[in-house]
Amino acid sequence: MHEFSIAVNIVDIAIEHAEKANARRVNEVELEIGELSGVVYEAMETAMEAAIKGTLLDGAEIKIIRIAGRGRCNDCGRAFELANLFDPCPWCGTFNPEVMAGKELRIKSINVD
Ligand SMILES: [Zn+2]
Repeated sequence: MHEFSIAVNIVDIAIEHAEKANARRVNEVELEIGELSGVVYEAMETAMEAAIKGTLLDGAEIKIIRIAGRGRCNDCGRAFELANLFDPCPWCGTFNPEVMAGKELRIKSINVD
């Protein structure tokens, strides 16, 4: 399962940061995940719950912030909302977008005690 290996990776990184900060517990982890990242949100939430069990992150609130996809057309130069990577430009109809946002897959913040 794709999401589970990503979750394990995120948990590893979060633990590393929490340990560096001498955290006793982790209250909250905020993740930014783009709608074009290929991650299924529901699967990611389940995977995170499973991945934090028995770790320093156990009991922490996991917040997933969705980042909408945005593209800019390489032909006409206009920006538009990009719901998926294979959408055409709504202005000129070509399939040549540059992805500006939506591929994020990162930890935004970690709140520790
Ligand atoms: Zn265009």
